[in-house]
Amino acid sequence: MNGIDSVLIEIIEEAIVNSPFDFGIPQYGGLRTAEDQNKLYQQGRDLPGSIVTNVDGYVKKSYHQTGKAFDIYAYVDGKASWKVEHLTAIAEHLKQIAKDCYGIELTWGGDWTKFKDMPHFQI
Ligand SMILES: [Zn+2]
Repeated sequence: MNGIDSVLIEIIEEAIVNSPFDFGIPQYGGLRTAEDQNKLYQQGRDLPGSIVTNVDGYVKKSYHQTGKAFDIYAYVDGKASWKVEHLTAIAEHLKQIAKDCYGIELTWGGDWTKFKDMPHFQI
């Protein structure tokens, strides 16, 4: 969580206590350099894999580059999960905690219509 905005860290730490599913932050799920972001952008383009972002880190900057975003994975039955049902349940919980305890409208990538980013949160 190094470099993530302190209020986001507070929300995460508060939410993990009663979360419907355990969750964690993957590598590059917190603060990213422009180079980190660009490497993710190349995935599914110049590098193998599927496209995970439309933000290249230089022309378009990610909220991850300012510490105003984090990604999660669910941790269910002893392993990482990116299932929609797990991420949705955790997202609802995180948004509720952010609102009730901090008066913050946490933005969840799963609510986006154009490019759904289920593991992503930002302020
Ligand atoms: Zn993200």
